Amino acid sequence: MKLFDGHCDTLLGLLGNPRSGPLPVGSLYENSLHVDLKRGLELDFYAQVFALFGFREMGFADVFDTLYGRFAEEMEACRDSVSFCRSRSEAEAAGKAHKAAAFLSIEGAEVIGCRPEKLEEAAEKGVRGFGVCWNRANEITGTCAEDTDRGLGPKGRELVRLAEELRMVTDVSHLSDPGFWDVEKLAGGPFIASHSNSRAIHPHPRNLTDDMFRAIRDHGGTVGLNLYALFLGEENVTVETVLRHIDHFLDLGGEKTLAVGGDLDGCEQLPEGIAGLQDVHLIRDALAQRGYGEELLDDIFCNNLLRVLPLQDAAHKE
Ligand SMILES: [Zn+2]
Repeated sequence: MKLFDGHCDTLLGLLGNPRSGPLPVGSLYENSLHVDLKRGLELDFYAQVFALFGFREMGFADVFDTLYGRFAEEMEACRDSVSFCRSRSEAEAAGKAHKAAAFLSIEGAEVIGCRPEKLEEAAEKGVRGFGVCWNRANEITGTCAEDTDRGLGPKGRELVRLAEELRMVTDVSHLSDPGFWDVEKLAGGPFIASHSNSRAIHPHPRNLTDDMFRAIRDHGGTVGLNLYALFLGEENVTVETVLRHIDHFLDLGGEKTLAVGGDLDGCEQLPEGIAGLQDVHLIRDALAQRGYGEELLDDIFCNNLLRVLPLQDAAHKE
């Protein structure tokens, strides 16, 4: 199977998430976390967006440089199995060379100090996703968990506009509802919710309303299914529960919108039977068993997200 997963917190996991206690052992190639390249390379094609994210305890000013530094070290150490990609054509080239395609995304503008210069630097360094916030409110917006009535201020609007100019994809997962609609008004092209489920199926504020899903669809963006059990259902969360979110989004005309953003290594509990990247195929298998066509499944698990990326890196454009 081909997989493009739009969100994981594996970089933070490799550093030892300060909230989860002792350091897990391993490298990006092989580790005890949810995601490693070894498991990804079992797939026919594997692309992964790695989040640049950290907790307050790490000092926000250092998060970007620390995680980017670790990512760069891993890219070098694993250069036979992975390529750092900035565009669709680079991801496809990585796939042809039987390598994983690795992308970077910011999760929370606070990790770049909410500063336009730092966003420009990130774009220059190949970061392709701009997640406006995580759960904690920041200088530019409220979130789904804090200051939930606050949308983007002038500084936030400036950053979202700049991200688009820099050919970065704005990510609305974790945003407050007013913040979501502020991005929607500003966006001239596709924007994404990299790891968010359906609020109609499970009424959690981290999930999207039907109107939000349709707005992303109409902008040509994607919505990535999040495998964190907390965002999927009340209890006894299984692959069947994931399928309910998929079916609902497909009912909303989401064939070209639905994608995967597993939140692997960023979540405490996965659906029953899923222990990490190696089991994501179970969701595809269940859909195939129900008669969903190959083309639709390839779209959901890989091609839709691939389509949102710029075909070529801005630096390579004539
Ligand atoms: Zn997240």
